[in-house]
Amino acid sequence: MSAMEDILKLERVSKFFERGFLRKVRIYAVNDVSLSLGDGEVVALVGESGCGKTTLGKMAAGLIRPSEGRVLWLGKDVWRMSKDEYSKYRPLVQVIHQDPYASLNPARTVYQTLSAPIVRYGLAKGKKEVTERVKELLSYVGLTPPKYFLNKYPHHLSGGMKQRLSIARAIIPRPKVIIADEPISMVDMSLRLSVLDLLKRLNKELGIAFLFISHELASARYFAREGRTAIMYLGHIVEVGGTEELLNNPLHPYLRAILSAMPLPDPKLARRRRLLPLKSLELPSLMELPKGCPFNTRCPYAKDVCVKERPELTPKSEGHLVACHLVDELPEWKPPWA
Ligand code: SF4
Repeated sequence: MSAMEDILKLERVSKFFERGFLRKVRIYAVNDVSLSLGDGEVVALVGESGCGKTTLGKMAAGLIRPSEGRVLWLGKDVWRMSKDEYSKYRPLVQVIHQDPYASLNPARTVYQTLSAPIVRYGLAKGKKEVTERVKELLSYVGLTPPKYFLNKYPHHLSGGMKQRLSIARAIIPRPKVIIADEPISMVDMSLRLSVLDLLKRLNKELGIAFLFISHELASARYFAREGRTAIMYLGHIVEVGGTEELLNNPLHPYLRAILSAMPLPDPKLARRRRLLPLKSLELPSLMELPKGCPFNTRCPYAKDVCVKERPELTPKSEGHLVACHLVDELPEWKPPWA
């Protein structure tokens, strides 16, 4: 599902949890997902809260083991690696979390937060050299002047500064991939763009590939404009393709519904909006997932087949895949800007 050489591949992965005492019920957080990330590629993963994006990100980072399917790093199953292979792979896939405060040790200064991994990975020796590296990193992520930040603790920093510090720490082992899980959702509105621009810089200048997880299409579009976007619904990927192609030519009724409800600052465009009337606004519970197509309880076009069989992701054009039985019968629909 990517044109570049794949470095990270999720092959039909699922993650379920079992609940119940006498009768065990499987609750799928992620269900039969395949997705790959090419060298230096940017892929945005977009979906509502609770749709399984974070679980998928953690599986991609090798932090949780899939219940079914495989996670491949350069063709090798991560969960079958030797100890030595795993310890080489692990630093190459870094995670930036939604809440930078929770991911930073509140008892460590900025200097201590960054110097520990620099020493651990053998990237500098002696206090002078380590301090130089720490300052270099702080300047690179925009925490300037670096001297001002060295002895600060996380609680001295704003949300945006904390996220920049997490980003600085994530790039120390020179990762090939960063899984950025809602990296701007706890950053002030006014600073969000600058954090996204910093992440884009890591992609352009350092060649780091990104799996950018977001519940917002607008930030995914900004970040992955030249890359791909995958739309996730109730644990499934329902549509994936080049970001611009996907947003100008959406096929899946779920993506059309999100796009039709997106706020539009331009009143001319807002007047051209064609809302997609959903059968229900309620997201089904993960405990009782619909049979067949996961979107059938809300989809205005659902027919019998949608309740009986789950549609597979199928290519509709070069690199644009959709999981919908009736995709060829749906009425034409374009977003106001297309
Ligand atoms: Fe709607 Fe059926 Fe397509 Fe699912 S398969 S999105 S229910 S038309």
